[in-house]
Amino acid sequence: MIEGQTNVRSSRFGAGAIDRIGQELGRFIVTTMDVPWQKAQPRIGAQPVAVLLVENMEIETLERQIAAAPQCDTVLAIGGGQAIDLGKYLAWQRSLRLVSAPTILSVDAFVTPAAGIRRGHRVEYVGQTTPDPLVIDYDLIRTAPPELNIAGVGDLLSIRTACFDWELAARANHSEFPFRAEDVTAARAILADTMAKADAIRACSDEGLRAIVEGYMRVNTLCLPAGHYRVEEGSEHYLFYELEERLKRPFIHGWIVGLGVHLLSRLQENRHTETVEFMDRVGLRYQPADMEIRRDDLVAALGNVRRYVEGRPDLWYTVINERPITSAWIAEAMATLKF
Ligand SMILES: [Zn+2]
Repeated sequence: MIEGQTNVRSSRFGAGAIDRIGQELGRFIVTTMDVPWQKAQPRIGAQPVAVLLVENMEIETLERQIAAAPQCDTVLAIGGGQAIDLGKYLAWQRSLRLVSAPTILSVDAFVTPAAGIRRGHRVEYVGQTTPDPLVIDYDLIRTAPPELNIAGVGDLLSIRTACFDWELAARANHSEFPFRAEDVTAARAILADTMAKADAIRACSDEGLRAIVEGYMRVNTLCLPAGHYRVEEGSEHYLFYELEERLKRPFIHGWIVGLGVHLLSRLQENRHTETVEFMDRVGLRYQPADMEIRRDDLVAALGNVRRYVEGRPDLWYTVINERPITSAWIAEAMATLKF
């Protein structure tokens, strides 16, 4: 069990953990998508009063869906990030009990308190929720494509570059938050434990899936009390923000963060080789070719990322502010990637 504050009030881990859960929920609404609902419906043992399928995460859509939803006691969110976020938003808006059952580990929405929604083109995080319980059914999660579950390590791997960024910011007297060396040490221990489970994660065994979920929960024990995600988010995410605005399309989060870790650990000269070896061993897809990112676009993004972060005062001080990204550096880095 995880010690310390997480947003998870209770949890159930195990193959079959979701079986008959509907019988404990009173009147409940399911938030989900087609595929996870087909997989989960025969197993939950009761009929919901309504099923809300994700249409999109725009605030207007969510408000319309919620206004039309019947009275209930509980929200059962089943699926990936958007299905979980729809459930969180509904539970928060109506002050209902939330039960979260992720069917894929590619994003950490099921352990974070706020719901990711969209206002226009930008993502916003709103509300405060806690799953009770969080249901981690390994069999259900293994129905997702393995490469998408393995993508879940991306937001743990980012500890590598994010902690470096925070230390660098503190040294430069640019940390936006009080620097806590003990949090950096604890975050690196989470990363080390995750890396030690590479083979289990690659195989998506119970042990490997559990390692990802526990890694996320342990990150929360650091980040929720601190009120920020500095140990887990930094320059590697900022490159992704630039690319997302440039290309105006979504990415598999863990893959694009993996690409960011690849490039920014190189810029940081921060255990780059070891980190890339782990990504290859665990089977994380991070190559531009995996995400249909063209060389020209990535070159342009790297050339622009400093200007991009300087234009966004909400982004923290990182290696991007400090080390110039020259065209020679970009050419060298591009030679190590596949397009
Ligand atoms: Zn992330």
